[in-house]
Amino acid sequence: MTQNLEAFDCLVIGAGTAGIPSAVTSARYGAKTLIIEKQATIGGLACDLSNFALCGVYCNDQSDFYRFVNPGTITEEIISKLTGKPETIRNLKIYRYCPHDLRNVFKSMMDDCGSGLTVLTRSQVTKITCQETYHRCTLQTPQGEKVIRVNAVIDTSGIGALKDCCNLISYSKIPDELRQMGGICFHVSIMKFNETLQSYRRKFLSVIYKAAENGDLPEATKLTSCISLNQSTLLFKLNLPTTFYNDRTAAELCHRIFDIICANDDHQQLLLSYVSDKLHYRDSLRPQGEYLLTEDDVKTGRKFVDVAMRGSWPIEFWNSQRCMIIPVGNNDGCYDIPYGALTLSEKYRLYCAGKTLCAEPMALAAARVMGQCFAMGEAIARKAVK
Ligand SMILES: Cc1cc2nc3c(=O)[nH]c(=O)nc-3n(C[C@H](O)[C@H](O)[C@H](O)COP(=O)(O)OP(=O)(O)OC[C@H]3O[C@@H](n4cnc5c(N)ncnc54)[C@H](O)[C@@H]3O)c2cc1C
Repeated sequence: MTQNLEAFDCLVIGAGTAGIPSAVTSARYGAKTLIIEKQATIGGLACDLSNFALCGVYCNDQSDFYRFVNPGTITEEIISKLTGKPETIRNLKIYRYCPHDLRNVFKSMMDDCGSGLTVLTRSQVTKITCQETYHRCTLQTPQGEKVIRVNAVIDTSGIGALKDCCNLISYSKIPDELRQMGGICFHVSIMKFNETLQSYRRKFLSVIYKAAENGDLPEATKLTSCISLNQSTLLFKLNLPTTFYNDRTAAELCHRIFDIICANDDHQQLLLSYVSDKLHYRDSLRPQGEYLLTEDDVKTGRKFVDVAMRGSWPIEFWNSQRCMIIPVGNNDGCYDIPYGALTLSEKYRLYCAGKTLCAEPMALAAARVMGQCFAMGEAIARKAVK
């Protein structure tokens, strides 16, 4: 009976930042690959309009050069297809990009895989029965339930989706004191200029901080940051406790802040051009795999024999007071992410990548950035299908 089921070499759960590089790599290696995404669109957080900076792409040493931390990998390939530019922000090197362009790059990379890669959106895995030779997976798709056979599974869902469909892996909750703030964003377009964009930016931020001090806005809005997205639009990012806010209340707060900004602007030439409908989490349940990447591994820049890829982004931990940055304290400013931290069970060929990697909360606060998610996705797919 099971022999008649459609068979795939590799199933990737989540068509996001780590998942797409994973699925593309798997298909390029000749493995018949299925990528499954619960949303209607692909791209995950990297294609969300709150993002503008790919972190963990370049080495963060003191040189003036933008050297790739994982040269020759899919991260470098993705960057070569975008039209953004490298920048240094607070001594950290980033690649400034447009999320729309990245979605197009992702799409064309997936299309180029032809029939080797099947993409299912608005779909989820509901059950995985693991066996040593293959797994029997039940999928919920818009066309109804479907059962397939797969050889290897890579969880890149960002939330540990395997937890709900496979009982072989243990997960732990992040203690409340180590939970990071989540993020939501909105865009304000200026329709008619009376000042420069930078002076609007300073003025609006000072209005927000003052309102937070007076108690007219919640305390957490003091952590709001703002950058210019293009010549007429400002991108505001709020950092909010995920224990208190949800998608709806966070979006309502964005609207309230915009009203306060408007009330303090004499010219009324402002447009709320975009409000995200999601409060994005920086962290989630931690899966237990073959190796737990530790805070010390990151801080000391530990090197591993079974290195999958390298990280350069420091620990960037958003607590309720501020963003705490702890640098990598060795010469090259890099740490290894070993295959063990991306391997949930070698015996059953269950893997993970992206922010679902096996890491202590502080190590996750460094490893999770997008450039590193691309490289993780690629590295673990190579292992899964070899
Ligand atoms: C507020 C905030 C700001 C950030 N800022 C930056 C930044 O400036 N620069 C940077 O480099 N990084 C930043 N990051 C980090 C980075 O964006 C994420 O850590 C990274 O994108 C995570 O990639 P991922 O592939 O693990 O998850 P995602 O990109 O979220 O992809 C997961 C995908 O899986 C799908 N999915 C979930 N569950 C299921 C399921 N059951 N079945 C099928 N599909 C499922 C989701 O819909 C999604 O498409 C930020 C993160 C946050 C929260």
